Amino acid sequence: MYQFLKARQGVLAQIEQACQQAQRNVSEVQLLAVSKTHPSSALNVMYESGQRAFGENYLQEALQKISDLKALDIEWHFIGHVQRNKTKLLAENFAWVHGVDRLIIAQRLSQQRPEQLAPINICIQVNIDHQDSKDGCHPDEVLALVNDIIQLPNIHLRGLMVIPAPNHTQAFTDAKQLFEKVRENYPSLTTWDTLSMGMSGDLLDAIQAGSTMVRIGTALFGQRDYQ
Ligand SMILES: *Cc1c(COP(=O)(O)O)cnc(C)c1O
Repeated sequence: MYQFLKARQGVLAQIEQACQQAQRNVSEVQLLAVSKTHPSSALNVMYESGQRAFGENYLQEALQKISDLKALDIEWHFIGHVQRNKTKLLAENFAWVHGVDRLIIAQRLSQQRPEQLAPINICIQVNIDHQDSKDGCHPDEVLALVNDIIQLPNIHLRGLMVIPAPNHTQAFTDAKQLFEKVRENYPSLTTWDTLSMGMSGDLLDAIQAGSTMVRIGTALFGQRDYQ
């Protein structure tokens, strides 16, 4: 318990320091706790230390935890790769989906979002530094995708999500530029407020460049064991 509380306080202090350096208000940067591979009991302890937003990558694993922890007021974010045949379960169980990189995924999430739930929050994942292996749309496709996605009824389009290669600081600046370009082109898109970037190893650079949501796993929960 104490160990997780300390870890969370340490990460929050890092965020605060990065905000100070960047002359940003600390309230502009949210902490998303990335809990993949960690048991429900670990999330429960992190929750008790004040954390409310949790990010998961693997659907089956996430659904188990959502069921285990349904008594808690958790905001669930899906940050993994989105497969087309998994959109229904995402629409039914998550508040946010960060990895939307093509229109069909947004269309299905909108169609499959249960009526009694608020619109689902999504970010467009961009392959900002052109990595061969990475998911995400091409930066040149973003404006057209925004244009199509904002027509959909049950979606709140929140912003962009990027996972640059390690030590690729320029990619954060490029992502911020693209984020602002969308804002300039769609001034009436009031939900456009989220730049999801920065992990345990690079949160300072990400915040310096303009991140509004850092996705932190290792620095909160320790090393992951994939066995
Ligand atoms: C696992 C993961 C993270 C967290 O990474 P850490 O280095 O453990 O902080 C963040 N974002 C995504 C998309 C991830 O898959």
